[in-house]
Amino acid sequence: MNFLDNLFKSKQARTSSFNRWPGLINAYRDYLNIDSETEIISLCEGNTPLILSPAIAKACGVPGLKVYIKFEGANPSGSFKDRGMTMAVTKAIASGLRIMICASTGNTSAAAAAYTACARSLGYHDAKCVVLVPDGYIALGKLAQAIIYGSQVIQVAGNFDQALNIVRELADKHPIALVNSVNPDRIEGQKTAAFEVCDQLNGFAPNILCIPVGNAGNISAYWAGFKQYYNFGVSKTKPRMFGFQAAGAAPIVLGKPVENPETIATAIRIGNPASWHMAEAAVKESNGLIDSVTDEEIIEAYKLIHSAQGICCEPASAASVAGLIKVSRQGKIDPEATIVCVLTGHGLKDPQTAIDSSQFSPIKTEASMDSVARALNL
Ligand SMILES: *Cc1c(COP(=O)(O)O)cnc(C)c1O
Repeated sequence: MNFLDNLFKSKQARTSSFNRWPGLINAYRDYLNIDSETEIISLCEGNTPLILSPAIAKACGVPGLKVYIKFEGANPSGSFKDRGMTMAVTKAIASGLRIMICASTGNTSAAAAAYTACARSLGYHDAKCVVLVPDGYIALGKLAQAIIYGSQVIQVAGNFDQALNIVRELADKHPIALVNSVNPDRIEGQKTAAFEVCDQLNGFAPNILCIPVGNAGNISAYWAGFKQYYNFGVSKTKPRMFGFQAAGAAPIVLGKPVENPETIATAIRIGNPASWHMAEAAVKESNGLIDSVTDEEIIEAYKLIHSAQGICCEPASAASVAGLIKVSRQGKIDPEATIVCVLTGHGLKDPQTAIDSSQFSPIKTEASMDSVARALNL
């Protein structure tokens, strides 16, 4: 066989496996509340990588520990919010609604805006997206996404919790689809992340799932997904759920709402989580835990994930890893355990934190090989 034949064969093999992923609703239709005639609004989200991370295992002080990253930054708009949004926008459009509304710390608005644009591409020209963001507390990349995907951005002089109350009221009074995670379709779509983790671990859940907690929809969705996969006999085990809040925005840990939540991890800067009780149930039923991590611990983990592992995530995502490092240093982790940390969103959304958290000082030289070589002591 000559070289070209070989090339052709491997290309065929590649394209047949590469092009197969149909988006998460089509992939997991049998496990989701969706009927067969519904037109799916999808950007082929899901199927995100599960990456083994020796660097995190080492930072935990347990070098042999199997720690995996579920890298949700690989979704089309750069966060796990796409999982819930494909479902929420699909259902809203199917029920005749054309205006999507949400309050957002950034990623929900990016995802809502993207899937509304996707709906327009399928002929729903009057589909519109309105996003309410807390003024001044949203990473620039996320704001840029909401704008360029064509949504109407409203900055409210208040925090996320206030913005959420406003959109809930608006959606009650008008024919508008509320696409925050209080919408059960969001949780339904987000369950698929748990399905994927079990599929990627060959039919087993990890022993522990570590996840950042903000409005607490995602931890609730993962737990619902793990339980469902277990009850259907697809997964042989269920995990313990370990949720982590930022210390300045840790209402569930403190047992009471936080009026003025503060943290560098803006995506989890939430003082009164909408899915509080579901999150507590997930932790209790799974014999898990909920704890908080300081901004210093978050930034330490954030830098480690980038420089020691080569994965780009946003600060809120790093709370899962910071939490794992914290509890493993307290001796709470079995060295034989398999652990998955969810990295919820992509780091490129928040370049300012990347620059601010590192002592960035480029070496300046003349534009000649000699000066560069000298600067490098070569
Ligand atoms: C939304 C979000 C979270 C928090 O998820 P909840 O479902 O609100 O608990 C964490 N990280 C990122 C990057 C997010 O966008």
